[in-house]
Amino acid sequence: MQKSDLLKNLQEIVGNERISTSTAELYCYSCDASQIRGMPDFVLRPASTEQVSKIVRLANENEIPVTPRGAGTGLAGGAVPVEGGIVLDMSSMNRIMEMDLDNLQVTIEPGIVQEKLNEALEPYGFFFPPDPGSSAMCTLGGLIANNGSGMRSVKYGTTRNYVLGLEIVLADGTVINTGSKTSKSVAGYSLTDLFVGSEGTLGVITKATLKVRALPKERSVLLASFDNPELAGKAVVKVLSSGIVPSACEILDRNIIEAINTYDPHVGLPKAGAIIMFEVDGTENSVREGIEMIKDVCSSLATSIRAASDKTERDEIWAARRLVGAAVSRLDPLRTRVYVGEDIGVPLKELPGMLHKVGEISKEFNLPIMTYGHIGDGNLHTGMCIDVLDETDWDKLNKAADKIHRTAISIGGTVTAEHGVGSARAEYMGLELGKGLDVMILIKNALDPKGILNPGKMGV
Ligand SMILES: Cc1cc2nc3c(=O)[nH]c(=O)nc-3n(C[C@H](O)[C@H](O)[C@H](O)COP(=O)(O)OP(=O)(O)OC[C@H]3O[C@@H](n4cnc5c(N)ncnc54)[C@H](O)[C@@H]3O)c2cc1C
Repeated sequence: MQKSDLLKNLQEIVGNERISTSTAELYCYSCDASQIRGMPDFVLRPASTEQVSKIVRLANENEIPVTPRGAGTGLAGGAVPVEGGIVLDMSSMNRIMEMDLDNLQVTIEPGIVQEKLNEALEPYGFFFPPDPGSSAMCTLGGLIANNGSGMRSVKYGTTRNYVLGLEIVLADGTVINTGSKTSKSVAGYSLTDLFVGSEGTLGVITKATLKVRALPKERSVLLASFDNPELAGKAVVKVLSSGIVPSACEILDRNIIEAINTYDPHVGLPKAGAIIMFEVDGTENSVREGIEMIKDVCSSLATSIRAASDKTERDEIWAARRLVGAAVSRLDPLRTRVYVGEDIGVPLKELPGMLHKVGEISKEFNLPIMTYGHIGDGNLHTGMCIDVLDETDWDKLNKAADKIHRTAISIGGTVTAEHGVGSARAEYMGLELGKGLDVMILIKNALDPKGILNPGKMGV
């Protein structure tokens, strides 16, 4: 079909106001928060499942790539149309369709921003636990498609643990429903799990039923300082293996502490080789007990331990943690943060060794690395900043990231614990998954034989 005829057909489906074709508008959809780029031919903002189904069917008949997009905060190029075609901007489908709180669940459209759901739940005493650093921007569709998580996953798990059912538009336009409204069901293959984390390569999420939880009554935070990241890693292993379940367990290394203190001198994080922020939530008694136990377990490894005395201090500590994204370029104002090699996950007992290795890689390539992240899940964000105009810097960055990825895989870890594969990490899928990648390709070919859904992603 000619491009002009295709445009006419698409206009008939969504109307003129829901379609963009100008270079300026297309350009806005040519990137996400990663370094991956790709220009779409059309951007569509569907308003209903029916429109999504018609668009995808038309695209399939004409073998045109379709890339679903939430808010474009992804860090792996997942929402970037690397082979052109249609970008499906799902952010207009953003309603909370049902608050079924007696059943501890809500049904939503995928375009709602994560934080908006929690704002709607809070007055009723509930929350949706997965909380990425991007919660004020990212959509629940993007979070489900990436199986994202965040600071609370050490206790509450990842997005996958909260998806009861999905409405999905398949590559040929067929609409299916997976899962059920019950918290347990073993009827058939777990199709819900197949689509969670499939990054838009198997279907478009048009509706989701999600579990919610009652808000904890109390929470408290403890800040433990260590001489170096390895000791911090050892303390985390000790805390988790002693049966304590913190509701957050975050690491900041020396470089990122310095960057945050430079960005906002009022924060005054302790100067240390690394700090761990532990949070415990629950009832008043269980929180007090948890904080005391963590203090005890860490005391032989930490140089200092400080518990927040009240809510104000606790909020200040978390506010400091949330400054990471903004502060990260302050270590050297001439360099820019580039999201490459930034999301490894390793088995818990490998944490001290991996943290040591990151230090060695930093020295080897003469590239400062700022390590922070959800260490309680074994998830480390190894942030690197470079002079983006200097090709030698890019070369060093790519080599350092490659070494970080390969080291993580060699010790039983992963190249991405939460940010997703996208295009950025597709080359490592064979190495990490082995023959499992062949099975993924079989599934992809069965569900999307023409390969129209988000091509160029996940190695499939
Ligand atoms: C400052 C910052 C902090 C971050 N912190 C975290 C963090 O702590 N934890 C974390 O997990 N991530 C984090 N991220 C990464 C990112 O925010 C998440 O991956 C988020 O889930 C992406 O949501 P989005 O709506 O922006 O999706 P997009 O970037 O638009 O898309 C992400 C993927 O989902 C697919 N997709 C989107 N909507 C649909 C749909 N309806 N149906 C099918 N596929 C779809 C896209 O095709 C793409 O593959 C962070 C990003 C930034 C910029």
